[in-house]
Amino acid sequence: MNYWILSSPEETQRFGKRLAEFLQAGDVLTLSGDLGAGKTTFTKGLAVGLGITKLVNSPTYTIVKEYTGRLPLYHMDVYRITDEEDIGLDDYFDGSGVVVVEWSENIKSLIPDQHLEIQIERLNENQRKIILIPHQERFERMCKEFNY
Ligand code: ADP
Ligand code: MG
Repeated sequence: MNYWILSSPEETQRFGKRLAEFLQAGDVLTLSGDLGAGKTTFTKGLAVGLGITKLVNSPTYTIVKEYTGRLPLYHMDVYRITDEEDIGLDDYFDGSGVVVVEWSENIKSLIPDQHLEIQIERLNENQRKIILIPHQERFERMCKEFNY
């Protein structure tokens, strides 16, 4: 199974929390989906699953927010930037924490080949379809083990 229907923001957070149990330092997750799809909502749950107690908010205006939990979480929203802008984002992909990138299509050249692609689609007011697409063996294995 590589997709799930999530019927409320709380369920999307629970899904993120569950996924966090499978993560390790160096993992990169890309989140795609329209504005309001639930990318930040998902990340809030993921952070809880990483043992982060601080509230996670959208990093749209700050580009990257760093949180400390069981593993560091680097939450990026690159809606406003492009590959060409050298603002030092590459340092976050050095393997020390979990990187979650909203609007990763804007910084394609920085995303490692090995990553987990997560697509969130708005079905209606409260329902979302979430799809996990593993890239390379680490995430292929993870997706086989993952259950929700
Ligand atoms: P994005 O980061 O993709 O722009 P947000 O997570 O900031 O999206 O916003 C998602 C919005 O959709 C929130 O207002 C949230 O309450 C609402 N929502 C409704 N149903 C869901 C659901 N099943 N999953 C996630 N968000 C949902
Ligand atoms: Mg967002």
